[in-house]
Amino acid sequence: MSDAADYGYVADNVKRILSEIGETEEKYRGTSGNVRLMAVTKTVPPEAVNAAVRAGVTLLGENRVQEYLDKKDAYLPEAEVQFIGRLQTNKVKYIINSVTLIHSVDSVKLCGEISRLAVKNNKVMDILAEVNIGGEESKGGVSPETLRDFIAEVSEMEGIRFRGLMTIPPPGCSEECFEKMQRIFTDVQDRYKTADILSMGMSADYKLAVKYGSTIVRVGTGIFGARTYNK
Ligand SMILES: *Cc1c(COP(=O)(O)O)cnc(C)c1O
Repeated sequence: MSDAADYGYVADNVKRILSEIGETEEKYRGTSGNVRLMAVTKTVPPEAVNAAVRAGVTLLGENRVQEYLDKKDAYLPEAEVQFIGRLQTNKVKYIINSVTLIHSVDSVKLCGEISRLAVKNNKVMDILAEVNIGGEESKGGVSPETLRDFIAEVSEMEGIRFRGLMTIPPPGCSEECFEKMQRIFTDVQDRYKTADILSMGMSADYKLAVKYGSTIVRVGTGIFGARTYNK
């Protein structure tokens, strides 16, 4: 087991990012405490993840089902875990009882399986609709044009509670993409009372995301350092 002191840089990064989030909220939104910092754990050993939790992170983000299953028993139990990666329909069963929110929902088929398993397990699963704000073909997410119909369909499904939107803006698209997402989110909030989460912002752009109304920023590299190539 690694000593917690080995991960002192993780604690330093968490503290710095938490205070930057708070300052950015104060500056642009006139409030603080409405944005959660998610630590994105892909490729990161559980000891480093736990160092982030000890430093004040209350939310972990998982991309890969198998990696999560391999690591989850070693995580400190107090952190909440949410799923943020591409999720194959046949893998929903492995996470339905251990994550509190699925961020990356972009197909009716996937929602059908989440609904089926939620009902079977006697629970309600919170989901976000992923929006492909940059119109990139290589990325998942629902286009802004089809978002209304998509939400109308999946929010009616039994066992599913629609909680808001998630996005991964393309690298080149900075301020306009965030502004556009904020507008889309406001529109969605006007129509759905349960929509209170905007998952937007990563290591390179979390301050910009906070400026434009994000409520969860998903940070990996900024907390844990660069990921090993090809992982
Ligand atoms: C990896 C990942 C992140 C974090 O990316 P960083 O640039 O390392 O902060 C956030 N969201 C998703 C969906 C990711 O896959």
